[in-house]
Amino acid sequence: MSYDFDLFVIGAGSGGIATARRAAQYGAKVGIAEYDRLGGTCVNRGCVPKKLLVYASHFPNAFEEAVGYGWSAVSSQVDWPTLITAVNNEVHRLNGIYQSMLDKSQVKLFPYRAKLLDAHTVEVGDQKVTADKILVAVGGVPVRPPIAGIEHALLSDDLFNLKEQPKKLVVLGGGYIGCEFASIFHGLGSEVIQIIRGDKILRGFDEDLRSEIQGAMEKHGIKIYTSADLIGLEQTADGVVVKFKTDAGEETVIADAVSLAALGRKPNLDNLGLENTAVEVNAGAIAVDTYSQTAEPNIYSVGDCTDKVNLTPVAINEGRAFADTMFGGQSRTMSYENIPTAVFTTPEAATVGLTEAESVEQYGEDQVKVYRSRFRPMYYTLPGKDEKTLMKLIVHTETDRVLGAHMVGDSAAEIIQGVAIALKMGATKAQFDATVGIHPSSAEEFVTMR
Ligand code: NDP
Repeated sequence: MSYDFDLFVIGAGSGGIATARRAAQYGAKVGIAEYDRLGGTCVNRGCVPKKLLVYASHFPNAFEEAVGYGWSAVSSQVDWPTLITAVNNEVHRLNGIYQSMLDKSQVKLFPYRAKLLDAHTVEVGDQKVTADKILVAVGGVPVRPPIAGIEHALLSDDLFNLKEQPKKLVVLGGGYIGCEFASIFHGLGSEVIQIIRGDKILRGFDEDLRSEIQGAMEKHGIKIYTSADLIGLEQTADGVVVKFKTDAGEETVIADAVSLAALGRKPNLDNLGLENTAVEVNAGAIAVDTYSQTAEPNIYSVGDCTDKVNLTPVAINEGRAFADTMFGGQSRTMSYENIPTAVFTTPEAATVGLTEAESVEQYGEDQVKVYRSRFRPMYYTLPGKDEKTLMKLIVHTETDRVLGAHMVGDSAAEIIQGVAIALKMGATKAQFDATVGIHPSSAEEFVTMR
C-alpha cells in the first residue's frame, strides 16, 4: 500500500518539529499539521517569552546593586507595552525561523487543525492525507479546575497579551508556572499575592530547595498564603475578588484586574479523532511504550500529550529517538534518568537527580549522605544584600555515587546543566572532590563540599 507520506506529524511544537526534521534528514517524506503559530507552547507562550520576561524582571535588582559598586542611583520604570511588544516580536521572528527550517528540510506544512480519520488517514483542512506512520505531538493546555468563578482568572497564555501591567496580581497555584510568574511580575514592580493549597511551593522538589525559594520570594515581598482552599472568584467593579480559607479563617483579596490560574496543564486531545483509532488514553494522556508507540502500531506520540515529563528537551529527545529508530536504522529510546530542570524564579533554582526524600526512600537513611552549603555569593557583598545561594549534593554511601544535585541561586540553571553531565556519567563524590574548582565562583562549591 502506498501512502502520501512516510511520516505525518500532528503538532508543530518542539517535539513535532524536531521529529519531522530528523525523519526528513533520513530521507523520509514528511508532512506536518499545525493550526496555530509554529513552535508550540515553548516558543509562543512558554519557555521563550517567559525567559525574556525573567530577564526583564531582574533589572531593578541590578540597578540597586550597581550603587554598591559605585554607580550613581538609577530611577527607572518598565514600560509594559514596549516590553511585551519586544517579546512578541522575538516570538514572531522565531516562528519565521521554524518556517524556514521546515522548508529547508522539505517538510510540507499544513496550516490546519488535523483530525485522525483512521490509523493511516488524517483530515487537514478540507484535504485527506495518508501516511505510513503518524506522530501525535499536540502538547498540552492549561486547566481550569472546577472552582466557582474560575473563568474570571487569566491563564498563563493570556499574560503575553496583556495591554497593561497589572498593579496587583493574584497567582493561584504553587507549581513552576505560578512561581515563575509571581517572581516575574514582582520583579517588574507589581504587587504579587500567591495562594497555594499546600504548605510549600513546588511540590516534588527537594524540601530544602522548596523552603529556600519560598523564603527568598517572601523576603523579596511576595505574599504567599499557604494551606489555602480556594472558595471562589468574583468579578467586581474593583477587580477580581478571590476568596479562600486558611487555618486563620476565610480571607479575601482583590486583584486589580488579573488573577492568574497556574493550576496545572493537561494533554490537548480534544477533537483529535483518537476514537477513530486504537490509540489508548490513560488518565487523559496518550499511553505509549518506551519507543513512544501507542496501542495503534503505526501511531506514535511524544511530548506533553503523553504527560510523562512536561519539558521541551524531553519532547525533542523522545521525538528524535523515534525518528532515529524508525527512519535512521539506530534503535534507541529516551532515558528518563537524571533529567535536569530549572525553575526561573527569583532566586533561580535548578536540580538534577533524586531529592533527599527520594534517595532515602530508595536506598534507606543509613545509605544516604547529604552535603549542604549555604552562603552569600561574593557579588552581593558590596551591595550589602543578604541574598543566599544554597547547594546540596546527595550521595549514596555504599557506592559513593552522587544521586542528586540541587541549587538555589544566581545562574543555577547554567551550573546544574554541567553538573548533570557528571550525574549522567555516574560520577562519584570522590570524582567531584578531585575536580579543580574555578575560583572565585559559586559553582566551585560543588567540588569543595566536605
Ligand atoms: P504544576 O502541576 O507544576 O503546578 C500546579 C499547581 O496548582 C500546584 O501548586 C498544585 O497544587 C496547584 N493546584 C492544582 N489543582 C488545584 C486546585 N484544584 N486547587 C488549588 N490548587 C491546585 O503545573 P504548572 O501549571 O505550574 O506547570 C505545568 C508543567 O509545565 C510543569 O509540571 C512543568 O513540567 C512545565 N513547566 C516547566 C517549566 C520549566 O521547566 N521552567 C516552566 C513552566 C512549566 P499541589 O502541588 O498541591 O498539587
